[in-house]
Amino acid sequence: MEKFELIFNHINTHAEQFEQQEMTYLEGVLAALEGTLDGQFDWRVDGATKEDMRKAIQIAILKGMRKGSQPNHQMTPDTLGLLVGYFVEQFFEGELGKGSISVADLALGTGNLMLTVMNLLEGKIEATGVEVDELLIRLAAAAADLTQQPISLFRQDALESLLLDPVDAIICDLPVGYYPNEEVSLDYELCATGGMSYSHHLFIEQSLKHTKEGGYLFFIVPANLFETEQAKQLHKFIKNHAWIQAVIQLPENMFSSKAYEKSIVILQKQSGHLKAPREVLLAKVPNLSNKQALAMFFEKVQIWKENK
Ligand code: SAM
Repeated sequence: MEKFELIFNHINTHAEQFEQQEMTYLEGVLAALEGTLDGQFDWRVDGATKEDMRKAIQIAILKGMRKGSQPNHQMTPDTLGLLVGYFVEQFFEGELGKGSISVADLALGTGNLMLTVMNLLEGKIEATGVEVDELLIRLAAAAADLTQQPISLFRQDALESLLLDPVDAIICDLPVGYYPNEEVSLDYELCATGGMSYSHHLFIEQSLKHTKEGGYLFFIVPANLFETEQAKQLHKFIKNHAWIQAVIQLPENMFSSKAYEKSIVILQKQSGHLKAPREVLLAKVPNLSNKQALAMFFEKVQIWKENK
C-alpha cells in the first residue's frame, strides 16, 4: 500500500468512529485531523512526504463532501492545482529564483489548491487564505499544520473589507453564483446595474484590489465567463485595471457536464512601469492522458513566454 493510502486509512478509521457519534463524516475528518495535531492519536508513516499527507487528507475530505450535500463544499482537484502551480512558476520564474512571493486565495475552501501549489513550489510561498465557511477553514488550518505549510487565515466574507496588504499573486477557484449581500456589492464597480451581482465578478475586483501593481492573478473561472449578460461590464472593468495574459481552456472530460466546465484566466494588474503582453496566450489543455499533446501544450506556453 502507498504511504498516502496508509495515512488515509488512519484518518478514515477515526472519521468513521466519529460518524457513529452524531457527526457528519466530514466533521469526523476534521476531528481526526485536529485530534492528531493535539497528540490524541498516535500514528506515524515513516518517510511520508508533504504530498502524501495532502493527498490523504484530500481523499478523506472528498469522501466527506460526496456523502454530504452542501453546495459550497467543493474542492479544487490536484490536476487543476498543479496547472495553476505550473503557471505561477512560469510567471514568477525570476522572483522564485531569488526568494519567496506572497500569494493569497480569497476563497480558500479546504486549502487544497493552495497546498498543492505550496508543495510544488516548496518554501517559496508566503500564503494567506480567506474563507467564510467555518468547517472548511478549520479543515484548511489542520491540513496546513499537518503538511507543515504555514498559511495565514482569515475567516470572513472575503468581499467585505479585508485587512490584507497587496500580494504578488492571487490564486483562486472562484465561487460561482449570485452574491447575496446586496449592500456590500454596492461598494464594487462590478455591482450589477439591475438585479443581483455575480460573486465571481466581485471576487475578481476584490482580488485585483489586493494585488500589487504588476502582480499576477490566476483564476479558475466558469468557461462561459465572458459570455453572460454581465460580461460586457466585466470586460470593461478588466480592460481598465488589468491586462489579460492568458485564457486557458481545460479539457471537457475533467468536468461532469458542460455547465460545470472551467477555464484558467491569468491577469496582470496594470502598472505604469510595465506594458501589456504583445499577444494573449490562448490555449487548450489537451486530454491529460495524451502525453504527446500535453508536451506540445507546454511547448506552446514556452514559445509564448519567450515572445511576450
Ligand atoms: N480552492 C478551494 C479548495 O481547494 O478547496 C475550493 C474553492 S470553492 C470553488 C469556493 C469557496 O469559496 C468555497 O469554499 C466557499 O465557501 C467560498 N466562498 C464563497 N463565497 C465566499 C465569500 N463571500 N467569502 C469567502 N469565501 C467564500
